[in-house]
Amino acid sequence: MTMQLPEKIRLCEVGPRDGLQNERRFFSTAEKRELIDAMGEAGFPVIEVGSFVSPKAVPQMANTDEVFQSLKRVPGVEYRALIANAKGVDRAAACGCSKVKLNVSASVAHNLANLNRTPAETVAGFAECVAKAEAAGIGISGSISMAFGSPWDREIPIQDVKDIVEAYLAVGIGEISLSDASGMAYPTQVYDMCCEMKRCYPQVNWWLHFHNTRGLGIANVLAGMQAGFTQFDASFAGVGGCPFVPGAAGNVATEDLLHMCDEMGVATGIDLDKAMAISRRVAELVGHNTDSYLLRAGTSKALFRELPKGQIKNQTLK
Ligand code: ZN
Repeated sequence: MTMQLPEKIRLCEVGPRDGLQNERRFFSTAEKRELIDAMGEAGFPVIEVGSFVSPKAVPQMANTDEVFQSLKRVPGVEYRALIANAKGVDRAAACGCSKVKLNVSASVAHNLANLNRTPAETVAGFAECVAKAEAAGIGISGSISMAFGSPWDREIPIQDVKDIVEAYLAVGIGEISLSDASGMAYPTQVYDMCCEMKRCYPQVNWWLHFHNTRGLGIANVLAGMQAGFTQFDASFAGVGGCPFVPGAAGNVATEDLLHMCDEMGVATGIDLDKAMAISRRVAELVGHNTDSYLLRAGTSKALFRELPKGQIKNQTLK
């Protein structure tokens, strides 16, 4: 019996947003542009450039408008951004961003405490964003963070997640990401959730977004693939975290995910060596160690590139 895997997947590089928003160091427009332009050249099909939110809340993203204006856009590449409300749509339209993403936490307790509304009620309030985006010719998608568990309520009932999916569909959003910002997802749970979501909502254009907080990020991606999901977020060098989640780590490292796909024969359309060069540059710019296996060890294939065929390295493997 062979393992069920897709022939190809699509990856969204969220490092410029989810990764850099958690870094102490501010990244200039020129630095972000350098990284994003290199991604376009390396074959990344989707890039989350930044977010249009209050610069007071997330100072790292204050230059997102300027970054969009400075990009060398590669035809066919989708450059997207996270927004929090209708103001975000206006900013997106003004700087030529063609896809925006809204977010809601799946935790009812979290939403009631913060917004005095359930997650589904919060999503119903996004109707204004959808109308504005449509009028401006901008695509709009939604994400559900804490879909696999949250620090407020260990278990999120699957019905709660379905209620949010239905609320998104009701306002006209059919591209939805299930996100594990809290790093609590595990592979059998991901597989079951994804199978159920695909069965109930085959019309949805699904994405998965895993943080590697407890080392299960890439295992969760594989579980999602086995359930037939083909779109995944990842972050260069594995940078990132989440200010609301204790001990949170970044997303699955882009190069780790690409390497797994390369080894398994799952196409991504992205050049792994070029992606690794970008991640090395990111690690250099952030100035600290990051959560990336590939940056430490290199690719498996590179072990054999350095030596003539048949020659074994003079070292002890333990
Ligand atoms: Zn995230």
